[in-house]
Amino acid sequence: MYAKRLDNLPPYLFAQIDKLKAQKRAEGVDVIDLGVGDPDLPTPKHIVDSLCEAARDPATHHYPDYTGMIEYREAVSEWYKRRFNVSFDAKTEVLALIGSKEGIAHVPEAFVNPGDYVLATDPGYPVYKTSTLFSEGILHEMPLKEENDYLPELDKIPADVLKKAKLMFFGYPNNPTSATAPISFFEEVVEFAKENNIVAVHDNAYSEIAFDGYKAPSFMEVDGAKEVGMEMHSLSKTYNMTGWRLGMAVGGEELIAGLGRVKTNVDSGAFDAIQRAGITALTSSQQCVADACNIYQKRRDTLVSGLRSLGFDVRSPKATFYVWMKVNNSMKFAEKMLNEAGIVVTPGVGFGKNGDGYVRFAITRDVERINEAIERMRGLEF
Ligand SMILES: *Cc1c(COP(=O)(O)O)cnc(C)c1O
Repeated sequence: MYAKRLDNLPPYLFAQIDKLKAQKRAEGVDVIDLGVGDPDLPTPKHIVDSLCEAARDPATHHYPDYTGMIEYREAVSEWYKRRFNVSFDAKTEVLALIGSKEGIAHVPEAFVNPGDYVLATDPGYPVYKTSTLFSEGILHEMPLKEENDYLPELDKIPADVLKKAKLMFFGYPNNPTSATAPISFFEEVVEFAKENNIVAVHDNAYSEIAFDGYKAPSFMEVDGAKEVGMEMHSLSKTYNMTGWRLGMAVGGEELIAGLGRVKTNVDSGAFDAIQRAGITALTSSQQCVADACNIYQKRRDTLVSGLRSLGFDVRSPKATFYVWMKVNNSMKFAEKMLNEAGIVVTPGVGFGKNGDGYVRFAITRDVERINEAIERMRGLEF
Protein backbone atom coordinates (compact mmCIF):
# COMPACT_ATOMS: atom_id res chain seq x y z
CA MET A 1 0.00 0.00 0.00
CA TYR A 2 2.74 2.44 0.94
CA ALA A 3 5.44 3.92 -1.22
CA LYS A 4 8.95 2.45 -0.97
CA ARG A 5 10.22 5.60 0.69
CA LEU A 6 8.06 4.80 3.71
CA ASP A 7 9.30 1.22 3.79
CA ASN A 8 12.84 2.53 3.66
CA LEU A 9 12.44 4.63 6.79
CA PRO A 10 14.36 3.32 9.78
CA PRO A 11 12.12 1.93 12.55
CA TYR A 12 11.00 4.79 14.74
CA LEU A 13 12.32 3.71 18.10
CA PHE A 14 10.62 6.55 19.91
CA ALA A 15 7.17 5.30 18.92
CA GLN A 16 8.10 1.95 20.49
CA ILE A 17 9.19 3.67 23.71
CA ASP A 18 5.94 5.65 23.79
CA LYS A 19 4.02 2.37 23.59
CA LEU A 20 5.98 0.79 26.45
CA LYS A 21 5.58 3.97 28.49
CA ALA A 22 1.79 3.99 27.94
CA GLN A 23 1.67 0.31 28.91
CA LYS A 24 3.51 0.98 32.19
CA ARG A 25 1.23 3.90 32.99
CA ALA A 26 -1.83 1.71 32.30
CA GLU A 27 -0.40 -0.79 34.81
CA GLY A 28 -0.44 2.01 37.37
CA VAL A 29 3.31 2.70 37.42
CA ASP A 30 4.24 6.30 38.32
CA VAL A 31 6.54 6.75 35.33
CA ILE A 32 9.34 9.34 35.54
CA ASP A 33 9.84 10.44 31.96
CA LEU A 34 13.40 11.57 31.32
CA GLY A 35 13.02 10.65 27.68
CA VAL A 36 11.37 13.64 26.07
CA GLY A 37 13.32 16.54 24.61
CA ASP A 38 10.46 18.91 25.31
CA PRO A 39 10.69 21.55 28.06
CA ASP A 40 8.24 21.01 30.95
CA LEU A 41 8.42 24.76 31.69
CA PRO A 42 5.63 26.96 30.29
CA THR A 43 6.11 29.60 27.60
CA PRO A 44 6.78 32.92 29.40
CA LYS A 45 3.63 34.96 30.06
CA HIS A 46 4.57 38.02 28.01
CA ILE A 47 4.86 35.81 24.92
CA VAL A 48 1.52 34.10 25.55
CA ASP A 49 -0.14 37.49 26.11
CA SER A 50 1.32 38.72 22.85
CA LEU A 51 -0.18 35.76 20.98
CA CYS A 52 -3.62 36.30 22.56
CA GLU A 53 -3.62 39.93 21.55
CA ALA A 54 -2.41 39.20 18.03
CA ALA A 55 -4.94 36.39 17.55
CA ARG A 56 -7.77 38.86 18.26
CA ASP A 57 -6.58 41.09 15.42
CA PRO A 58 -8.31 39.96 12.21
CA ALA A 59 -5.30 41.20 10.23
CA THR A 60 -3.48 38.04 11.40
CA HIS A 61 -6.20 35.69 10.13
CA HIS A 62 -5.12 35.55 6.49
CA TYR A 63 -2.50 33.54 4.64
CA PRO A 64 0.87 34.61 5.93
CA ASP A 65 3.70 35.80 3.70
CA TYR A 66 5.56 32.71 2.40
CA THR A 67 8.91 33.88 3.66
CA GLY A 68 7.57 35.19 6.97
CA MET A 69 6.38 38.62 8.11
CA ILE A 70 9.06 41.16 7.34
CA GLU A 71 8.81 42.39 10.96
CA TYR A 72 9.52 38.85 12.18
CA ARG A 73 12.47 38.47 9.84
CA GLU A 74 13.79 41.84 11.02
CA ALA A 75 13.43 40.71 14.64
CA VAL A 76 15.41 37.55 13.80
CA SER A 77 18.07 39.61 12.07
CA GLU A 78 18.37 42.00 15.04
CA TRP A 79 18.51 39.08 17.47
CA TYR A 80 21.36 37.49 15.49
CA LYS A 81 23.17 40.82 15.47
CA ARG A 82 22.79 41.28 19.23
CA ARG A 83 23.51 37.69 20.15
CA PHE A 84 26.21 36.65 17.64
CA ASN A 85 27.24 39.93 16.01
CA VAL A 86 26.31 38.63 12.57
CA SER A 87 24.28 40.75 10.13
CA PHE A 88 21.60 39.36 7.86
CA ASP A 89 19.48 41.17 5.31
CA ALA A 90 15.99 40.46 6.66
CA LYS A 91 14.56 40.46 3.14
CA THR A 92 16.86 37.95 1.51
CA GLU A 93 18.90 36.13 4.16
CA VAL A 94 16.21 35.21 6.70
CA LEU A 95 13.32 32.80 6.25
CA ALA A 96 10.59 32.02 8.79
CA LEU A 97 10.13 28.30 9.44
CA ILE A 98 7.30 26.30 10.95
CA GLY A 99 9.81 25.04 13.51
CA SER A 100 13.37 24.17 12.52
CA LYS A 101 12.39 20.52 11.99
CA GLU A 102 10.40 21.76 9.01
CA GLY A 103 13.45 23.50 7.56
CA ILE A 104 15.65 20.44 8.14
CA ALA A 105 13.04 18.21 6.53
CA HIS A 106 12.74 20.40 3.43
CA VAL A 107 16.28 21.59 2.79
CA PRO A 108 17.51 18.49 0.90
CA GLU A 109 14.62 18.91 -1.56
CA ALA A 110 16.27 22.14 -2.68
CA PHE A 111 19.83 20.88 -3.12
CA VAL A 112 20.03 17.10 -3.34
CA ASN A 113 19.53 15.11 -6.53
CA PRO A 114 18.79 11.38 -6.35
CA GLY A 115 22.08 9.60 -5.77
CA ASP A 116 23.87 12.58 -4.23
CA TYR A 117 25.45 12.01 -0.84
CA VAL A 118 24.27 13.78 2.29
CA LEU A 119 26.67 13.83 5.22
CA ALA A 120 25.06 13.64 8.65
CA THR A 121 26.37 13.16 12.14
CA ASP A 122 25.65 9.81 13.81
CA PRO A 123 24.26 9.78 16.45
CA GLY A 124 22.13 12.66 15.28
CA TYR A 125 18.74 14.28 15.12
CA PRO A 126 16.69 11.63 13.24
CA VAL A 127 15.27 14.10 10.68
CA TYR A 128 18.73 14.49 9.05
CA LYS A 129 18.39 10.91 7.88
CA THR A 130 14.73 10.83 6.98
CA SER A 131 14.88 14.05 4.95
CA THR A 132 17.85 12.57 3.09
CA LEU A 133 15.83 9.44 2.30
CA PHE A 134 12.82 11.47 1.14
CA SER A 135 14.99 13.43 -1.27
CA GLU A 136 16.49 10.14 -2.52
CA GLY A 137 19.93 11.18 -1.43
CA ILE A 138 22.38 8.64 -0.04
CA LEU A 139 23.23 9.00 3.60
CA HIS A 140 26.86 9.03 4.71
CA GLU A 141 27.09 8.86 8.46
CA MET A 142 29.85 10.80 10.19
CA PRO A 143 30.48 9.02 13.51
CA LEU A 144 30.56 11.18 16.64
CA LYS A 145 32.93 9.56 19.09
CA GLU A 146 33.74 10.40 22.66
CA GLU A 147 37.49 10.33 21.95
CA ASN A 148 36.99 13.10 19.35
CA ASP A 149 34.82 15.18 21.68
CA TYR A 150 31.86 14.14 19.52
CA LEU A 151 33.08 16.14 16.53
CA PRO A 152 33.08 14.39 13.13
CA GLU A 153 36.43 13.63 11.47
CA LEU A 154 35.98 15.39 8.15
CA ASP A 155 39.27 14.05 6.82
CA LYS A 156 38.02 10.47 7.20
CA ILE A 157 35.24 10.88 4.64
CA PRO A 158 36.13 8.78 1.57
CA ALA A 159 37.02 10.65 -1.64
CA ASP A 160 34.31 8.96 -3.70
CA VAL A 161 31.69 10.11 -1.18
CA LEU A 162 33.08 13.64 -1.16
CA LYS A 163 32.90 13.83 -4.93
CA LYS A 164 29.14 13.29 -4.83
CA ALA A 165 28.41 14.97 -1.50
CA LYS A 166 25.96 17.84 -1.76
CA LEU A 167 24.85 18.68 1.74
CA MET A 168 26.00 18.25 5.33
CA PHE A 169 23.94 18.28 8.54
CA PHE A 170 25.58 18.98 11.89
CA GLY A 171 24.57 20.75 15.09
CA TYR A 172 26.28 22.05 18.25
CA PRO A 173 25.36 22.25 21.10
CA ASN A 174 24.49 18.72 20.08
CA ASN A 175 21.46 16.56 20.53
CA PRO A 176 21.83 13.79 21.72
CA THR A 177 25.45 13.93 22.97
CA SER A 178 25.19 17.44 24.54
CA ALA A 179 28.67 18.15 23.15
CA THR A 180 29.64 21.69 22.19
CA ALA A 181 31.89 22.71 19.31
CA PRO A 182 34.66 25.30 19.33
CA ILE A 183 34.47 27.99 16.65
CA SER A 184 37.61 26.43 15.12
CA PHE A 185 35.51 23.42 14.14
CA PHE A 186 33.02 25.69 12.37
CA GLU A 187 35.96 27.30 10.54
CA GLU A 188 37.07 23.85 9.46
CA VAL A 189 33.57 23.15 8.14
CA VAL A 190 33.53 26.35 6.08
CA GLU A 191 36.85 25.39 4.43
CA PHE A 192 35.66 21.83 3.91
CA ALA A 193 32.33 22.94 2.39
CA LYS A 194 34.07 25.42 0.08
CA GLU A 195 36.59 22.87 -1.10
CA ASN A 196 34.01 20.19 -1.78
CA ASN A 197 31.06 22.28 -2.90
CA ILE A 198 28.85 21.19 -0.05
CA VAL A 199 25.91 23.06 1.44
CA ALA A 200 26.60 23.16 5.18
CA VAL A 201 23.42 23.14 7.26
CA HIS A 202 24.02 23.89 10.92
CA ASP A 203 21.28 23.04 13.41
CA ASN A 204 21.56 25.46 16.34
CA ALA A 205 18.36 24.69 18.28
CA TYR A 206 20.18 24.68 21.65
CA SER A 207 22.45 27.72 21.44
CA GLU A 208 20.63 29.48 24.29
CA ILE A 209 20.41 26.51 26.66
CA ALA A 210 23.84 26.79 28.24
CA PHE A 211 25.42 26.70 31.71
CA ASP A 212 28.33 27.90 33.81
CA GLY A 213 28.68 31.05 31.69
CA TYR A 214 29.22 29.12 28.45
CA LYS A 215 27.99 30.97 25.34
CA ALA A 216 27.51 28.81 22.28
CA PRO A 217 28.65 30.27 18.95
CA SER A 218 26.69 30.43 15.72
CA PHE A 219 28.11 28.75 12.61
CA MET A 220 27.31 31.99 10.80
CA GLU A 221 29.95 33.85 12.84
CA VAL A 222 32.69 32.34 10.70
CA ASP A 223 33.92 34.34 7.72
CA GLY A 224 32.64 32.75 4.55
CA ALA A 225 29.84 30.81 6.26
CA LYS A 226 27.20 32.65 4.24
CA GLU A 227 28.77 31.49 0.99
CA VAL A 228 28.53 27.83 1.91
CA GLY A 229 25.74 27.44 4.35
CA MET A 230 22.85 28.27 6.52
CA GLU A 231 21.76 27.84 10.09
CA MET A 232 18.46 26.48 11.32
CA HIS A 233 17.27 27.97 14.57
CA SER A 234 14.09 27.91 16.54
CA LEU A 235 12.15 29.49 19.36
CA SER A 236 11.18 26.01 20.62
CA LYS A 237 13.93 25.31 23.13
CA THR A 238 14.89 28.92 23.92
CA TYR A 239 11.42 30.08 25.00
CA ASN A 240 9.68 26.75 25.76
CA MET A 241 7.66 27.10 22.57
CA THR A 242 7.90 23.60 21.09
CA GLY A 243 4.14 23.44 20.49
CA TRP A 244 3.99 26.78 18.72
CA ARG A 245 6.01 25.79 15.65
CA LEU A 246 8.16 28.79 14.90
CA GLY A 247 11.75 28.86 13.73
CA MET A 248 14.07 30.52 11.26
CA ALA A 249 16.69 29.76 8.64
CA VAL A 250 19.47 32.30 8.14
CA GLY A 251 22.28 32.17 5.62
CA GLY A 252 23.48 33.11 2.16
CA GLU A 253 20.87 34.65 -0.11
CA GLU A 254 20.95 31.99 -2.82
CA LEU A 255 20.78 29.15 -0.32
CA ILE A 256 17.90 30.70 1.59
CA ALA A 257 16.11 31.32 -1.70
CA GLY A 258 16.44 27.61 -2.57
CA LEU A 259 14.79 26.51 0.64
CA GLY A 260 12.19 29.25 0.16
CA ARG A 261 11.26 27.86 -3.26
CA VAL A 262 10.54 24.45 -1.75
CA LYS A 263 8.50 25.92 1.08
CA THR A 264 6.43 28.14 -1.21
CA ASN A 265 5.24 25.00 -2.93
CA VAL A 266 4.59 22.97 0.22
CA ASP A 267 3.34 25.19 3.03
CA SER A 268 1.91 28.63 3.44
CA GLY A 269 3.96 29.86 6.36
CA ALA A 270 3.52 30.23 10.11
CA PHE A 271 0.38 31.88 11.56
CA ASP A 272 0.99 35.64 11.71
CA ALA A 273 -0.20 35.84 15.33
CA ILE A 274 2.49 33.32 16.28
CA GLN A 275 5.07 35.33 14.37
CA ARG A 276 4.00 38.46 16.26
CA ALA A 277 4.46 36.59 19.53
CA GLY A 278 7.82 35.44 18.17
CA ILE A 279 8.79 39.08 17.67
CA THR A 280 7.87 39.72 21.31
CA ALA A 281 10.02 36.77 22.39
CA LEU A 282 13.06 37.89 20.40
CA THR A 283 12.88 41.60 21.19
CA SER A 284 11.86 41.59 24.90
CA SER A 285 14.11 41.09 27.92
CA GLN A 286 15.94 37.76 27.75
CA GLN A 287 15.71 37.27 31.52
CA CYS A 288 13.23 34.40 30.98
CA VAL A 289 15.94 32.50 29.09
CA ALA A 290 18.49 33.04 31.88
CA ASP A 291 15.90 31.87 34.42
CA ALA A 292 15.21 28.68 32.46
CA CYS A 293 18.95 27.98 32.17
CA ASN A 294 19.33 28.37 35.94
CA ILE A 295 16.61 25.80 36.44
CA TYR A 296 18.21 23.37 33.97
CA GLN A 297 21.60 23.90 35.54
CA LYS A 298 20.31 22.86 38.98
CA ARG A 299 18.66 19.80 37.46
CA ARG A 300 21.83 18.92 35.59
CA ASP A 301 23.83 19.14 38.81
CA THR A 302 21.27 16.98 40.63
CA LEU A 303 21.29 14.32 37.91
CA VAL A 304 25.04 14.28 37.30
CA SER A 305 25.98 14.13 40.98
CA GLY A 306 23.28 11.52 41.56
CA LEU A 307 24.55 9.31 38.73
CA ARG A 308 28.13 9.72 39.95
CA SER A 309 27.04 8.69 43.45
CA LEU A 310 25.75 5.48 41.86
CA GLY A 311 29.17 4.85 40.35
CA PHE A 312 28.51 6.03 36.80
CA ASP A 313 31.19 7.93 34.96
CA VAL A 314 29.27 10.79 33.37
CA ARG A 315 30.26 14.11 31.81
CA SER A 316 28.49 17.26 33.01
CA PRO A 317 27.22 19.08 29.90
CA LYS A 318 27.87 22.78 29.24
CA ALA A 319 24.75 23.10 27.10
CA THR A 320 21.46 21.49 25.97
CA PHE A 321 19.05 19.82 28.35
CA TYR A 322 20.52 16.36 27.87
CA VAL A 323 22.94 14.17 29.79
CA TRP A 324 24.64 11.52 27.63
CA MET A 325 25.95 8.52 29.50
CA LYS A 326 27.94 5.45 28.58
CA VAL A 327 26.33 2.11 29.46
CA ASN A 328 26.94 -1.51 28.48
CA ASN A 329 23.97 -1.94 26.20
CA SER A 330 21.70 0.98 25.50
CA MET A 331 18.50 -1.00 24.76
CA LYS A 332 18.95 -3.30 27.75
CA PHE A 333 19.71 -0.38 30.03
CA ALA A 334 16.62 1.54 28.89
CA GLU A 335 14.41 -1.53 29.25
CA LYS A 336 15.69 -2.22 32.74
CA MET A 337 15.15 1.40 33.76
CA LEU A 338 11.55 1.28 32.60
CA ASN A 339 10.67 -2.21 33.84
CA GLU A 340 12.40 -2.10 37.20
CA ALA A 341 12.39 1.61 38.10
CA GLY A 342 9.60 3.14 36.02
CA ILE A 343 12.06 5.59 34.46
CA VAL A 344 12.12 6.47 30.78
CA VAL A 345 15.49 7.23 29.21
CA THR A 346 16.28 7.18 25.50
CA PRO A 347 18.63 4.48 24.19
CA GLY A 348 21.40 6.13 22.21
CA VAL A 349 21.02 3.66 19.36
CA GLY A 350 17.73 5.42 18.54
CA PHE A 351 19.88 8.29 17.22
CA GLY A 352 22.06 6.07 15.05
CA LYS A 353 24.36 3.08 15.37
CA ASN A 354 27.19 5.11 16.87
CA GLY A 355 24.85 6.00 19.73
CA ASP A 356 24.81 2.37 20.80
CA GLY A 357 26.37 1.97 24.20
CA TYR A 358 24.92 5.26 25.48
CA VAL A 359 21.66 6.53 26.87
CA ARG A 360 20.27 10.04 26.90
CA PHE A 361 18.60 11.58 29.95
CA ALA A 362 16.50 14.70 29.34
CA ILE A 363 16.44 17.08 32.30
CA THR A 364 12.93 18.18 31.45
CA ARG A 365 11.59 17.18 34.88
CA ASP A 366 12.02 19.01 38.19
CA VAL A 367 14.73 18.42 40.81
CA GLU A 368 12.40 16.39 43.05
CA ARG A 369 11.57 13.96 40.25
CA ILE A 370 15.22 13.68 39.25
CA ASN A 371 16.14 12.93 42.86
CA GLU A 372 13.43 10.33 43.01
CA ALA A 373 14.75 8.74 39.81
CA ILE A 374 18.21 8.50 41.39
CA GLU A 375 16.72 6.89 44.52
CA ARG A 376 14.83 4.36 42.41
CA MET A 377 18.04 3.54 40.51
CA ARG A 378 19.93 3.02 43.76
CA GLY A 379 18.30 -0.37 44.25
CA LEU A 380 19.16 -1.66 40.78
CA GLU A 381 22.13 -3.63 39.48
CA PHE A 382 23.47 -2.42 36.16
C1 LIG B 1 14.21 20.12 18.98
C2 LIG B 1 15.18 20.04 17.87
C3 LIG B 1 14.94 20.61 16.62
C4 LIG B 1 13.64 21.15 16.11
O1 LIG B 1 12.87 21.85 16.88
P1 LIG B 1 11.66 22.64 16.29
O2 LIG B 1 10.66 22.56 17.37
O3 LIG B 1 11.16 21.96 15.04
O4 LIG B 1 12.16 23.99 16.00
C5 LIG B 1 15.94 20.59 15.66
N1 LIG B 1 17.10 20.02 15.92
C6 LIG B 1 17.36 19.44 17.08
C7 LIG B 1 18.68 18.81 17.28
C8 LIG B 1 16.41 19.41 18.10
O5 LIG B 1 16.69 18.78 19.23
